[in-house]
This record gives sequence, C-alpha cells and structure tokens, in this order.
Amino acid sequence: MATIDPLRFVRSDFEEIEEYEPVVPLEVLAREIGLPAERLAKLDANENLYGPLPQVREAVARADLHMYPDPRQGALREAIGDYLGVDPVMVVAGAGSDDLIDIVMRLVRPARVVNSPPTFGMYPFLARVNGAAIAEAPRTQGPAFEPDVPRIAREVRGGATLVFLASPNNPTGNALHQEQLEAVCGLEALVVVDEAYAEFSGRTALPLLSRYPNLVVLRTFSKWAALAGMRVGYAVAHPELARRMMAVKQPYNVSAAAEAAALAALQHRAQIFESVGCILAERERMSRMVAATGWLRPIPSEANFVLFQVMGREAGEVASALRTRGVLVRHYDRTGLREYLRISAGRPRDTDLLLQALNALGQP
Ligand SMILES: *Cc1c(COP(=O)(O)O)cnc(C)c1O
Repeated sequence: MATIDPLRFVRSDFEEIEEYEPVVPLEVLAREIGLPAERLAKLDANENLYGPLPQVREAVARADLHMYPDPRQGALREAIGDYLGVDPVMVVAGAGSDDLIDIVMRLVRPARVVNSPPTFGMYPFLARVNGAAIAEAPRTQGPAFEPDVPRIAREVRGGATLVFLASPNNPTGNALHQEQLEAVCGLEALVVVDEAYAEFSGRTALPLLSRYPNLVVLRTFSKWAALAGMRVGYAVAHPELARRMMAVKQPYNVSAAAEAAALAALQHRAQIFESVGCILAERERMSRMVAATGWLRPIPSEANFVLFQVMGREAGEVASALRTRGVLVRHYDRTGLREYLRISAGRPRDTDLLLQALNALGQP
C-alpha cells in the first residue's frame, strides 16, 4: 500500500521557516555549564531577576484553577485601564505581548509588514507564520540605531499595512522621540508601538491614541513585573479595533493563573516599582563599571539592558568565555550586531559576577 505523504497537506512556505531562537531553561544551562543554578548570572533575556512578589505568588496559589478564566477579561481589563488611565474597552490581554502581535497579524492579514531591524525577532517570525512578506526598513548603523522613518513611509506607500516599532527598542535600548512617533503614526497603516520596556523608560505613546486611531500600543508584565514565565501582556487600541481583537483572540488566552498574577502585580505595583528602581540604578552602575574595562562601550539605554560595543575582541567569543564562567549574555550573529553584546541589568550580585568574569578575561 502506498503511504500518504503528510507534507502534501501542509503549507509549502513553511519548508524553510526558521524556528524562533529559544531561551534555554536555567537548569539546562546550569547542567551544560557545570555550575549550580544559583551561581549563574542570567543576563541574557531581560528578565527581572528579583522575581515576583510573594503577594503575586500567593494570588496565583489561590486562583481557581479548576475553572475556565473569563474570556472577556473583565477584571483584568478594568485593572489595566485603571493603571494606565484608559477606558478598559481599549484593552485586550493575551498570553504575553507575543500573543497580541499574532492577534494583530490575524486581524490585519497583511501582505507586507514593515520591520526595522535590529529589533525584536518576534515581528518577522510571526509575520512569516501568518504568511506576510517582510519589508525591511533597517535602523541606521550603530551606535545610534535610529529608525529610518522616510524608508518606513516609502514601504507604506508601497503597500505595507502594518508597521512594528519597539520603544525602547530591543536590543538597542533607545526609545522613539516624539517627532518620530508622530511621523510614523501619521502613515496610512496600522502602527504597533511595542512598549515592553516602558516601565523602565517612563515614556509612552499612549497619549497619542486620541489623535491617531491607527496606533496600537503593546505592553507586558514579562519584564517590569517579573512575570515572563506567566505569559501575560496586552494591547491598548481604539475601541473598535480592540473589540475586533477581542473577537479573534483565543477565548481563554489568559490563563486563570496569569490573570491572578497580573491583577496582584497591579495591586502591589508600588512595591514592584522599587525593584524597577533598583534595576535602573544597577543598569547605570553596570554601564559605568563595564565601560571602565576600556574595551566595552555602552550605548545609552532606556530599558533594563544595555547594548555594548566590543572592541579588540570577537563579541561571540566574549559571550562564550563569559558563559563558561556562569555569566549569560546575548550575542547576535547578525549583520550590524556582530560586534555587540546585550547584557541585562540584574541585581548587584549579578553585576559583580559579570565584572569578575570580565576581569578574568583580561585586556584584549
Ligand atoms: C521581551 C519583549 C517582549 C515581551 O514579550 P512577552 O510575550 O510579553 O513576554 C515584547 N516585545 C519586546 C520588544 C521584548 O523585548
């Protein structure tokens, strides 16, 4: 009997799809490196290493896990609306802001999406998954990494209907200036401004929503609230856009545990902002101390990480050498980023481990 080729039934454009480069779990890393997990400085994924508040853990423990969560996200949208000072009908929550990126793609079904690398890899990844072509509008070369607004405008005139910009941008750390934001929002496209790090920068595009109904702002609990593992983020958009996003999302995209965690995080946000303050102070100390080595140059950052230009050494080799000493940082083997390392700001002890490991490498 002839067997049936299962690949006959699947999308041929997925033959060559690159998997999203995953973050390796801590225990796996510890085993690979041969150090206990507590001895590692995990500075490669912009996580809040202070971890969630005890009150947040308790709220998760009390959640009604045997029942489906509220598909209308009533309590959560209300609490987010109160936090941001926006109408809850403008809020849509999801399983991380990645889920919202996917929801926007499903809603728009764009033929072409504008991406401004170097930036977050999830935009081109989810664009491809959703069958969209990617129009690249690269940022200027480092160390400025400014978005090329005229180029973005040209791509929109050429038919792109969806634009992604992160502010502050990952991995470069710079935020959009008001003029850049307004210029992009003035384009005839849906403009998604990803503010995953807004709680560290204190800047936001939210006030522009009243003037630019084509703007979608993304936020997340992953970074400031130390809930990356819980998967909860949200979009803020024009009420009609939000209503349609609510209609196309998976009904139970925010789990009962994630909802409980996010509500508790908002309730106790003043305390979480104390750790945000510590991380910002540590970012400045890290920048200064790492720059003092003389062969790593920090790029000013408004987020909880810093991109450093590596001089006189291969950045990838530096990342590997740090890894064997239990310090994890991010190197991108990509044009425009090869000579850089992205290092998250952690606790003082994480910075100390980083500095020790850098000193052990000596001068190039
Ligand atoms: C980390 C990050 C996110 C967070 O995604 P979640 O799905 O909410 O964890 C989103 N955008 C950018 C630019 C990021 O760096």
